[in-house]
Amino acid sequence: MKAVVFIIDGLGDRPNKQGNTPLKDAHTPTMDKMAKEGICGIMSAVDIGVGPGSDTAHLALLGYNPYTTYTGRGPFEACGVGVDVKTGDIAFRCNFATVDDNLTIIDRRAGRIKNTEELEQVLDGLKVDGVEVIFKQSGGYRAALVLRGDNLSDKITEGDPHKEGVPIPEIKPLDNSEEAKRTATILNKVIKIAYDKLNSHPVNEERRKNGELPANAILPRGVGMVPNIQPFNEKNDIKGACIAGTGLIKGIAKMVQLDYIDVEGATGTPTTNLKNKADALLNALNTYDFVLINVKGADEASHDGNYELKKEFIEKIDEMLKYILENIDKNEVYITLTGDHSTPIEKKDHSADPIPIVIWGKSVRTDDVETFNEFSTYKGGLCWIKGENIVPILLDLMGKSHKYGA
Ligand code: ZN
Ligand code: ZN
Repeated sequence: MKAVVFIIDGLGDRPNKQGNTPLKDAHTPTMDKMAKEGICGIMSAVDIGVGPGSDTAHLALLGYNPYTTYTGRGPFEACGVGVDVKTGDIAFRCNFATVDDNLTIIDRRAGRIKNTEELEQVLDGLKVDGVEVIFKQSGGYRAALVLRGDNLSDKITEGDPHKEGVPIPEIKPLDNSEEAKRTATILNKVIKIAYDKLNSHPVNEERRKNGELPANAILPRGVGMVPNIQPFNEKNDIKGACIAGTGLIKGIAKMVQLDYIDVEGATGTPTTNLKNKADALLNALNTYDFVLINVKGADEASHDGNYELKKEFIEKIDEMLKYILENIDKNEVYITLTGDHSTPIEKKDHSADPIPIVIWGKSVRTDDVETFNEFSTYKGGLCWIKGENIVPILLDLMGKSHKYGA
């Protein structure tokens, strides 16, 4: 038996004046069929009352306790952009920024500089107080910074004030440990060295000549220590993979050592993209026991407050699911359909409202739920579960669980 966890990012919503949500409003015959034939419920990815980020939610959906494994965005970002992170590394997300001679921030995104590959090279591989600096740009003004060495701590402040017109803040330790003090000192040095090296860099001389803002500083944020996480395959004794379009989810997948499947044609129309993703999923099921697939789009529409777009996108996903169901054997594959969090149109941000969930496949205890939406699935047999419960439930259905006790 195999299992798919199909995540519609930002799926859940709150009722509008008419009492509708994009999911309830959308024409979704396949999702409804799955609800009819499967076991339904509602799900809180991290915990009841917690509106999670996509990162913490996905850790939970992969069966990890997000409170012990999530140490900050930096480690997952660095992992996602291809840094071979190691337990104990201190990792950050970074912006290239423009500062004046007093290190006062003029532009937090360095004029949205497009190509930073040459600039990356002057920072990557530096040694500061015996600590190795790993630096990797991740497209345009974004980058990841990793400090690798002994006696480091992530209990330090950030180097990004999230506003312009103020100086780059001095990094300070957040506790009295020698490690925190040492890490703060080193990061302050890295920020200073970065300015010295970047400010006079030919790329920036050229930008000034062209009237563009130089990328002459880095602003590290999202600090975290790379956690010690048991690989997914080892933990569950199955072979897993992940299909997702965003770097953040890619980082989560790589951190738990799931194979990451890149999908061609991600730049095509939404329909092409979804068809390619569906084919990638079907293909992956030949090799893997478990595939987590994340489909973005609904979340973006929600952040923009675009009800119609979210509804239309959910309908496109329904067609994608129809195609997937036509091409798998119900006796061989379980499909869990849910989201990672609600992103209500009215809020334009993530909320703690639970998300509908259905598990569809052989021998599940079918309930009375006949439609898949926020108002119907809570009556189903799964009741209200947490994200962390999904993998164990699937392992049990797949005959891969172990008896607890005699
Ligand atoms: Zn999300
Ligand atoms: Zn979001």
